[in-house]
Amino acid sequence: MTRRTVLAASAALPAAPALAQTARPLPAEVDVVVIGAGAAGIAAARKLQAAGRSVIVLEAKDRSGGRCIADTVNFGMPMDLGAHWIHAPSDNPLVDLARAAGFQLYDDPERPRLLIKGRSPREGEWEGFAAALTRAQRAILDAGEAGREVSLAAAMPTNLRDWQPTIEFLKGAWDSGKDTAEISCVDFYNAIETRDLFCRQSYGAILAKLAEGLPIRLSTAVTKVDWSGRGVAVETPAGTIRARAAIVTASTSVLASGAIRFTPALPKRQADAIAALSCGAYEHLIVHLPGNPMDARPDEPFVVKADTAATAKPLARIGGSDWWYLDIGGRFGRDLANAGPTAMKAFAAEFIGNEFGPQARRVMGEVHVTSWTTDPFIRGAWSVAGPGATPQRLRLAEPVGQRVLIAGEATDDGLWGTVGGAWASGERAADQALRWISPRPASGRRR
Ligand SMILES: Cc1cc2nc3c(=O)[nH]c(=O)nc-3n(C[C@H](O)[C@H](O)[C@H](O)COP(=O)(O)OP(=O)(O)OC[C@H]3O[C@@H](n4cnc5c(N)ncnc54)[C@H](O)[C@@H]3O)c2cc1C
Repeated sequence: MTRRTVLAASAALPAAPALAQTARPLPAEVDVVVIGAGAAGIAAARKLQAAGRSVIVLEAKDRSGGRCIADTVNFGMPMDLGAHWIHAPSDNPLVDLARAAGFQLYDDPERPRLLIKGRSPREGEWEGFAAALTRAQRAILDAGEAGREVSLAAAMPTNLRDWQPTIEFLKGAWDSGKDTAEISCVDFYNAIETRDLFCRQSYGAILAKLAEGLPIRLSTAVTKVDWSGRGVAVETPAGTIRARAAIVTASTSVLASGAIRFTPALPKRQADAIAALSCGAYEHLIVHLPGNPMDARPDEPFVVKADTAATAKPLARIGGSDWWYLDIGGRFGRDLANAGPTAMKAFAAEFIGNEFGPQARRVMGEVHVTSWTTDPFIRGAWSVAGPGATPQRLRLAEPVGQRVLIAGEATDDGLWGTVGGAWASGERAADQALRWISPRPASGRRR
């Protein structure tokens, strides 16, 4: 059940320890500096390196992967802390790369189990839910297809009765990370959606593998990009690097925060795009439910009928384990994430008790929570275009002064908000940077 399907098939954790970084000095000069070692940065660096160019990736955190990382320490299995669904497999460049690297990919079961205050739906209730979801989805997609830059809330029917809060949560907070009033129907319509895949070894493991051997400098936050002269000068607390071009992949909300200062300031077109594409909120509350109290299938998605926006979307028995995601998002998710781990864990316990029942609450064990919203180097989940903001994605990617490129998920019009989109954007930016850099003199021609 994803952004584009109408009911498909009917309907702050430590992670893998960072490799020790030697205190080598930064190089004084490279061809291209890549800022950020998430999907976009890794893709860009691989392409530049394959073209024989000198490149360095500067990453603020002590590990690479950005919003697509797996915790290999706390769960007895690799657990995705960010991206988990491999969206749009036929358009997603990571699928072939993952398979070639030996990762096992399998289908997301997709058809959700509906739960109404701990019980299965009675006769007619599933149909009521499916009809409400289908009507909402049709209205949103019709508006998007017609190019109407209105919000999901404005396009959706308002007479979905007792299904209204559930459908608003699914289309807003869960699908998109913002509430329905803040999401453009056109941007939503543009999102490429087909049946998703999961990776047995975790999505994060795929990125970790693809980052191997790249010149990534961890724990090195860029503070300034000076593009006032020829090329760029990229400043970090460990020193300044000069380069012909810079590829900037930090999230739109990081860029909006001013944590990376541009001199001169970015052109108005990019600054406006950054402001218009701020990140929504999405967090995983990862709950241990031993003994399978809900009799759930591996990776079975659940929909819980909601009375308010203060709800969550469970994904059962991740990879066949006893670990479940309870996913929260939108304004509610942001407020809860800002309230901190204790409040998030208390919500998880209350949700399990209310929605799954006392037996599940009794066996519930550890809860781990993610903290993307409050992470200073991420500041949210993924970019969301409000009404009127859809064209800003391509504007954000426009080259700046033939030496600065902004890449990352926010710049992909069909795969925005996904790892695949981020990867594709990094490859496009690398191609552009390569076009800027004149061919290297062939060896042996020095006089
Ligand atoms: C909880 C959650 C669930 C998600 N689920 C899915 C999913 O199921 N499927 C899917 O496809 N997508 C999902 N996404 C979205 C997906 O993770 C992102 O779209 C994608 O990973 C973004 O990649 P990126 O390279 O654009 O940015 P990032 O991954 O954010 O990479 C940018 C990097 O820049 C670094 N950085 C920031 N500031 C600086 C600085 N000053 N100096 C140096 N480095 C800096 C950051 O630390 C980061 O590593 C999810 C995201 C979240 C948060």
